[in-house]
Amino acid sequence: MIKKNILAASAFIILAIVSAAIIMDAKEKQQDEIGMQPIRTTPIGDKKLESSITIGAVGDILIHDRVYNDAQTSKKTYNFKPMLEKITPELLKPDILLANQETIVAGTSIGLSGYPAFNSPHEIADALKAAGVDIVTTANNHALDRGTEGQIKSLAYLKKIKMPYVGTFTSAKDQQTIRMMKKNGIKVAFLSYTYGTNGIPIPKKQPYIVNIIDKNNMKKEITQAKKQADIIVMGIHWGNEYERFPNTDQKELAQFLVNEGVNIIFGGHPHVLQHMEWLTNREGKKALVVYSLGNFLSGQDEEYRNIGGLASVTIKKTIKNNKTEIQLENPSFFPTYNYSNKEKDYELRPLEEANDKRLKHSYKEIMGHMMQRLQ
Ligand SMILES: [Zn+2]
Repeated sequence: MIKKNILAASAFIILAIVSAAIIMDAKEKQQDEIGMQPIRTTPIGDKKLESSITIGAVGDILIHDRVYNDAQTSKKTYNFKPMLEKITPELLKPDILLANQETIVAGTSIGLSGYPAFNSPHEIADALKAAGVDIVTTANNHALDRGTEGQIKSLAYLKKIKMPYVGTFTSAKDQQTIRMMKKNGIKVAFLSYTYGTNGIPIPKKQPYIVNIIDKNNMKKEITQAKKQADIIVMGIHWGNEYERFPNTDQKELAQFLVNEGVNIIFGGHPHVLQHMEWLTNREGKKALVVYSLGNFLSGQDEEYRNIGGLASVTIKKTIKNNKTEIQLENPSFFPTYNYSNKEKDYELRPLEEANDKRLKHSYKEIMGHMMQRLQ
């Protein structure tokens, strides 16, 4: 009898709790519905909606053996984070940051290697991610240095750490998927191509492995990207090594890309900086090209090859009278210096605070070089 009473009492308590939960749920729902009421169904009229983002990019991450040896912490582990520490606050400023991962990051399982057929430790990708890099371009002349196997292993690692990549791909479907990012209501598409792969042929069975510069393919992809994006960013590997000014092919291709709909071009490969410039497309809209961002982190010597930097630009999106306008504003450059001492102590420093007596080229000279065509 007593047992039954307890049972009845507990049944009542359970029922009470359940109904309270249902009532609370209904209440929350009601509040939600009330909260939804102010949403207007009438048109915005001539009200202006504005939003903006900044997009930045850094140049080639070219990890020679002397750089990864300097980053080694135990037999098979590496740490590149200290090399990026001094410039990380600057790298965190753009809303979206792109870097050119020139060397594959397949890690120790296939054996690390430096020049001329590179394979870098996984940890370089970890360090870039920690320093604020949001996406890497992988279409480079070193993309097939360690064969398609090396490239696929490298992409598997990038996938594992959720680092988006563009320019090399694991399948035809992967290649056809446009890389999109959205911030503050602005949709950005990223594309990437290289002039070649140092003479290493692309296997017939894996034509998707790397995007090679081809106007027809580029045009098709740009048309595709335009349907999804407000802004198209092209990371491109081109130009002549060690030349501080773009060649005629770069200029002609840049104008072609801009005419087709690319808004921002970030170039790489010459290992030295080439200036930024406004181009105008067929509709009279401004687009920005940075012909070469130079090396960012590398084991190269010679001073200009150790000066790179972060280029950035603000994108403003305005919606008025149901019309969307995109404008590029405030292109800027933050030069960096790839410090080392006798192939050790590699570290990126702001050029302005490089604090190295060996430096012959000043912050002012480099800024002048980069900004000369922007006035
Ligand atoms: Zn290159």
